[in-house]
Amino acid sequence: MAQTAVKRVEIEATSRLKELMRAYFLDLDAASKDHNRRVAWCTSVGPCEILSAFGFAVYFPENHGALLGAKKISHEIIPRAAGLGYCAEACSYMNSDIGCDLTDRSPLKQLYGIDGPPRPDLLVYSTNQCRDVQEWFQYFGQRHDAMVTGIRPPRHLGDVTREQVADVRAQLEQLIERIEIRYEQKLDRRLLREAVERSSRVSQLWGRVLETARHRPSPMTFWDMLIHMAPVILMRGSLEAIEYYETLRAEMEQRIADGVAAVPDERWRIYWEGMPVWPRLRELSEKFFDLRAAVVASTYCNSWAFEPYTGGDPLDWMARTSLEIFINRDEVRKERFLASVFDRFGVDGAIFHNARTCPNNTNSRYGMPERLRRRLDLPVLVLDGDLSDIRFFSTAQSMTNIEAFVEQLEGRK
Ligand code: SF4
Repeated sequence: MAQTAVKRVEIEATSRLKELMRAYFLDLDAASKDHNRRVAWCTSVGPCEILSAFGFAVYFPENHGALLGAKKISHEIIPRAAGLGYCAEACSYMNSDIGCDLTDRSPLKQLYGIDGPPRPDLLVYSTNQCRDVQEWFQYFGQRHDAMVTGIRPPRHLGDVTREQVADVRAQLEQLIERIEIRYEQKLDRRLLREAVERSSRVSQLWGRVLETARHRPSPMTFWDMLIHMAPVILMRGSLEAIEYYETLRAEMEQRIADGVAAVPDERWRIYWEGMPVWPRLRELSEKFFDLRAAVVASTYCNSWAFEPYTGGDPLDWMARTSLEIFINRDEVRKERFLASVFDRFGVDGAIFHNARTCPNNTNSRYGMPERLRRRLDLPVLVLDGDLSDIRFFSTAQSMTNIEAFVEQLEGRK
């Protein structure tokens, strides 16, 4: 009998999550129509605490890129961006968001009854993840005649040095100054500190939610985490996100106490490296469920579990956090991190997603899977695909490869 015939236990907090997301997008929509409020667009690991301390309603377009992928719209609208000269192999979040702008096909309309993404007054990027975000924001800055600015931290770091932190801290100060001049408004440093304290708290709670998956059987999987990570990105400086992750964590701990498994009769524990395949989440989650394989940890969901803020200069914490994120580290640090997570979560194998349009968050291109396979004697599979553009992902081929991979695990048992 296929496992999918076995009933999944739904996560109860999901209904609260839906309420939070609705309130968040309705507020953004209201802010974009209110002459007394302003909207800032920010990259997902950008300096959003500064923006909320200035009073902006903060919107994260990468979330919209993921939504366009999950709703299977991206591949239809990316050609419109290509028509403007954006390479089809550049970031498919960026291309689909531009395509959405040109075709007016945002799923936010149907989901929340709003006009689509909020019109930006200001766009703030950090290139700690990639250059694409800068180009993406330049497009929308021109489109809406809005100021585009940001920070450019040093990339691909080994150990993060004090000099590098000081460099990014200085860039953050310059960013604050530019916003102060543009809007003739002084930043309230007390509000910034409070926003950083809440961000750190949300991030810590999210990290603890992820840690519950170390338990055998795991109370949640990567597929659940991808849904429940929204508040740590979109609302990470908010009290609502703190309350939400306290609730979710309590539910996961109760599952552990009650012996509730996300994958009944969990037989295999897998690590997912790289970006999700948003248009194929359902098919992939069902496949792993049927194979009794729990994907218990991932680089992607872990990317918003930062080191805690323990007081002192909030800009220093923001600078360090933006430098230390996994995507911004060199191969040696990444490999070391992955080996330690494989061990802590007791995984039987790892899957690396080679995302065609995101070389920045793909780690299968320079020998890492093979090095880890040899060093740890751990089965590894590389799946070719993309985060959002379905044209780069063969579902049939991928499912065959995943089945063969799990058979390989079986053979080693
Ligand atoms: S990290 Fe990858 S997916 Fe994210 S914005 Fe950059 S290129 Fe796109």
